[in-house]
Amino acid sequence: MSQRTLVLLKPDAVRRGLIGEIVGRIERKAGWQITALEMRALDHETLEQHYGEHKGRPFYEPLVEFMSSGPVVALVVEGERVIEGVRQLAGPTDPIAAAPGSIRGDFGTIVRENLIHASDSEASAERELKLFFPGLS
Ligand code: GDP
Ligand code: MG
Repeated sequence: MSQRTLVLLKPDAVRRGLIGEIVGRIERKAGWQITALEMRALDHETLEQHYGEHKGRPFYEPLVEFMSSGPVVALVVEGERVIEGVRQLAGPTDPIAAAPGSIRGDFGTIVRENLIHASDSEASAERELKLFFPGLS
């Protein structure tokens, strides 16, 4: 089942020089392809759409501040079961709860600064890909 997912390397990953490390882990999964990749700054409007489901939660405003605190790297990744697969590579939201071997488990300590975003379902992937890569067919 070939799928497409949106991945964001968050500003902490970029600042800490972990782009290559994280992109490398994704690239090394058999059969997955990175089909778009771009470094960019995110404005509050884009983030409001991206994280709309969390609006009103106590972590929402600091999350938007953090996500606009520096550039992110946005990627489109395609391949077999890639939506579930990248979530597995990332590990759970809380990096301390994330197992060593996962991206968050290996590099993170702070829930907000957990290095990577990955779409969590086919519906989210479709919505997020449209938001970040509107030119995609
Ligand atoms: P994800 O799908 O694993 O990224 O997690 P969510 O969609 O639940 O949350 C989006 C992002 O908000 C997370 O990746 C964290 O950066 C941040 N976040 C989520 N829950 C919390 C929380 O309880 N506290 C803080 N500080 N940040 C959170
Ligand atoms: Mg999420």
